[in-house]
Amino acid sequence: MVATLERPAAAPKRAQQRRDVNLRIPGPTTLPPAVRKAVAEQMINHRGPEFAALLGEITQGTQRVFATSHDVLFFPASGTGGLEAAIVNQFSPGDRVLSITVGSFGERWCEIARAFGLDVDHMQLEWGSAADPAAVAARLEANGPFRGVLITHNETSTGVTNPVDRIASTVRRHGALYLVDAVSSMGAIPLQTDAWNVDVAITGSQKAWMCPPGMTMLSVSPRAWEAHACATLPRSYFDFGAARDYQRRGQTPYTPAVGIMYALRAALRLINKEGLEKVFRRHHLVAERARKGLRALGLELAADCRHFSDTVTSVKAPPGTDLKAAFARLRDEHGVVLATGQERWRDTHFRIGHLGHVRRADVDHALDALGAILGRATTTSS
Ligand SMILES: *Cc1c(COP(=O)(O)O)cnc(C)c1O
Repeated sequence: MVATLERPAAAPKRAQQRRDVNLRIPGPTTLPPAVRKAVAEQMINHRGPEFAALLGEITQGTQRVFATSHDVLFFPASGTGGLEAAIVNQFSPGDRVLSITVGSFGERWCEIARAFGLDVDHMQLEWGSAADPAAVAARLEANGPFRGVLITHNETSTGVTNPVDRIASTVRRHGALYLVDAVSSMGAIPLQTDAWNVDVAITGSQKAWMCPPGMTMLSVSPRAWEAHACATLPRSYFDFGAARDYQRRGQTPYTPAVGIMYALRAALRLINKEGLEKVFRRHHLVAERARKGLRALGLELAADCRHFSDTVTSVKAPPGTDLKAAFARLRDEHGVVLATGQERWRDTHFRIGHLGHVRRADVDHALDALGAILGRATTTSS
């Protein structure tokens, strides 16, 4: 899925020697020094008082970022595990749901819903576009009633941020549960979980949270708890109820991802220190800089300009560019790692991640390297 998978078995010497590769993919993101230090901490008893304190601190910190006063649960899993958890805890076989998709991650969630036997109405929108609140309202009216609506807040494959806030009131009026994949937005792009009536929001440790991959965090609204009580899809490991019951006692039902929790504690302290509003602002400014710089290089951005993502930018590759060769040179000569396009955009687009521990200089460095590479790549190929 990401460029690093195409790396030859033995990494080239220069890249190997470079201690800080400018990892500009939309997750995993780079770890700030304080987080790297936290990851190296000694293990503790996950049924002891130190763990209870750790769980308490990260629960509160995560709730602040989610802007929720309700439950936030933690499961060892990548973001996709969180998406599956949301489905099995909210629905029963045959429940009718509306799945709004604008790219690969939305389509993945739609497939998960289908795999669990839900009756899915797939509102499949063009890649690069965003969901239109009026069109969603019309769809709910025409094809409903729906038990739930699944939507991606930030579509990482295309670099589009959906207007989740403006769609929220329509969904609530319709009476459906509102489930939001916020894996690549939460902590970088504002999402007011409670104020926007989001019933379950899902995120993942390796994106804006500046942590290693392996943990998913989800919010559960009071309405979602009511749905959980009636939902009959089989669930075991991902059962919200067990997670909540143990969390009240400062524990988790099964062995938690202690190392990632250390990382999250350190990352939340950094977010607190910077201030969440400033974190959002930094992401916006860095993203604007990336977009401006890419356009200055004569590159065309793939997303609807009214819905640009502040965490990832998708770019159309200039015709005739050998993307594979360009990526290798970016990595080996400049220490810059970008992400390829996904699925149908694999050979035609590339992506730059700018989320988490990202500063202006990181984006400038990537843009400079891209300019150097593409300048040559385009002249040789034309
Ligand atoms: C990264 C991501 C996911 C989850 O991917 P995992 O590889 O399972 O962590 C889901 N949705 C979006 C929008 C993402 O960016």
